[in-house]
Amino acid sequence: MRNTELFERAQLTTPGGVNSPVRAFRSVGGTPRFITRAEGAYFWDAEQKRYIDYIGSWGPAIVGHAHPEVVKAVQAAAALGLSFGAPTEGEVLMAEEICKLVPSIEQVRLVSSGTEATMSALRLARGATGRDKIIKFEGCYHGHADALLVKAGSGLLTLGNPSSSGVPADFTKHTLVLDYNNTQQLEDTFKAIGDQIACVIVEPVAGNMNLIKATPEFLQTMRRLCTEHGTVLIFDEVMCGFRVALGGAQALYNIKPDLTALGKVIGGGLPVAAFGGRADLMAHMAPLGGVYQAGTLSGNPVAVAAGLTTLKLIQADGFYENLSAQTNKLAQGLSAAAQQAGVTFCADSIGGMFGMYFAKQVPATYAAMMETDKEKFNRFFHLMLDNGVYLAPSAYEAGFVSAQHDDAIIQATLDVAKQAFAQLKLS
Ligand code: PMP
Repeated sequence: MRNTELFERAQLTTPGGVNSPVRAFRSVGGTPRFITRAEGAYFWDAEQKRYIDYIGSWGPAIVGHAHPEVVKAVQAAAALGLSFGAPTEGEVLMAEEICKLVPSIEQVRLVSSGTEATMSALRLARGATGRDKIIKFEGCYHGHADALLVKAGSGLLTLGNPSSSGVPADFTKHTLVLDYNNTQQLEDTFKAIGDQIACVIVEPVAGNMNLIKATPEFLQTMRRLCTEHGTVLIFDEVMCGFRVALGGAQALYNIKPDLTALGKVIGGGLPVAAFGGRADLMAHMAPLGGVYQAGTLSGNPVAVAAGLTTLKLIQADGFYENLSAQTNKLAQGLSAAAQQAGVTFCADSIGGMFGMYFAKQVPATYAAMMETDKEKFNRFFHLMLDNGVYLAPSAYEAGFVSAQHDDAIIQATLDVAKQAFAQLKLS
């Protein structure tokens, strides 16, 4: 009962008992698990129950939890001091590593959260172009900066809020929201007002309305239109960067954005995020140019040590081949188990990310995603949870596999899933 006790106590001093909404299990119901420790592909809750973890801290834990090399690097860095407010060699190494691994990034600035990364990239795009209007896509989540909290995905989908209260209409009046994977609508919009648009921001693999892959045509058209109209193309790879491939979604799709936002994996579980891209654009940033952005803990030495070590580990030979193969095994296995049980379900994966859909087909649009069976997902979630498999507590989130999810762990997951699907069919 320790989870329940902690949740009751938490609600007395913290709104909803959590520090980020999805953690509260509002969408799936029930009591959130309070986590006490994690190792490899597992974590343990306050009642010592072990779970196979498929959220991986919502993306960062790509090499598995508490990887010994990451922990060692963090301990060594911490012993040298926690924060200086002055530059360090680690930040230089981190920037060099990011620029090496993501060819579209010529210069990069480190920040502490994905929200800061996208918010700053947006400001930079507006500052560099002198334009106000921006385009985003329904169901894509780019953090909680005011201008981007319009028809955003993730927790906002599960809470049923199309956006957030507390955001003045004046702050979002320059945000145009278009349909994901609708190439024609994008063409029409650019034809009408392309020269007024500062930037297009997109998740090239969308992970905040479950998992939806962009079509190559959609992204290629976006690249062409942005180039033609002097619009800055921002890929928000906070989730898919270093997750779907070593160079991110841009490497898979072979498209060069002007700016990229990164987060999650690059911090290896500590707060590091980044935005970067064309050097001529980055030259607009203070102290060189007039676009202001700063951070007391930006490039924090302990966080950078975790990030740098993680970036080294993911460059091991075959890392992404193995990660993709395991994730694919999981997705295929889930689909097969559902089919065997006669449950309408399908799954998809890309790199170390996967999606599960209680629907006949993998959705390609936000509208199709919203038609999937949320109630079935909720029941499935609890059947899995009760039997030691921790999935994202919402039908609208993607799942994450780590390099520590070996064959035995995937098989154990599929064994639990078989039972869960069978029970779903009965109930
Ligand atoms: N962009 C994307 C694509 C994300 O998935 C997220 C977080 N889930 C963010 C931005 C915001 O990152 P953070 O939570 O670190 O502020």
